[in-house]
Amino acid sequence: MIKERLTEIKDQLPEYVTLVAVSKTKPAEMVLEAYEAGQRVFGENRAQELAEKHEQLPKDIEWHMIGHLQRNKVKVIAPFVNFIHGIDSSRLLKEVNKQAKNNGRTIDVLLQFHIAQESSKFGFSMEEAEDLLQSELFQSLDHIQIKGVMGMATFTSDSRQVREEFRQLKTYFDQLKSTYFKADPHFKEISMGMSGDYEIALAEGSTMIRIGSSIFGSRN
Ligand SMILES: *Cc1c(COP(=O)(O)O)cnc(C)c1O
Repeated sequence: MIKERLTEIKDQLPEYVTLVAVSKTKPAEMVLEAYEAGQRVFGENRAQELAEKHEQLPKDIEWHMIGHLQRNKVKVIAPFVNFIHGIDSSRLLKEVNKQAKNNGRTIDVLLQFHIAQESSKFGFSMEEAEDLLQSELFQSLDHIQIKGVMGMATFTSDSRQVREEFRQLKTYFDQLKSTYFKADPHFKEISMGMSGDYEIALAEGSTMIRIGSSIFGSRN
């Protein structure tokens, strides 16, 4: 079942799009089933759960932290995490850099933007992101690699609104790329799209989709 669902989604993806299989709340056996079907990139939104699954599962899995990350949890995942999608403050980025350095690593990260109507979703405004990118602090962070941007659209059935929000994120990406990352080939990812809205996200330029329930079934 997981294998069929994975195949169905993968068949729709251009070659440059990464599928992050979001396994939060699901048991390690289900991750293994997806792994055996060829999936290698998995996402979780809690540091502790991520660390436990990393411990239990094959070591060639690429683990992505996709949810809101508290600074005091960074050290739990810093030894192994490949990608952190939800960087939403300079203090968090600084902590990720520090813990990556302590582990002799560089961690790939995305800047999360607030694009939804809902006030509960985390993320930078364009102004805040520019303040960070122009700061001396940012210049000194040599154990993180900024790979692009991430955002979550409003949870709504209004697909026009969702499309507008994804389009906004793509505009932010283009602006940052041309202003701060013109000569940086690493800055190329736009993480947007979940089970309910990934088709719209793909049409608006997503390069990473984060899919949970459409692969593993609904969560409680
Ligand atoms: C849970 C989660 C997803 C996946 O959600 P589905 O609707 O199950 O596909 C994607 N991104 C983030 C940040 C999440 O927390």
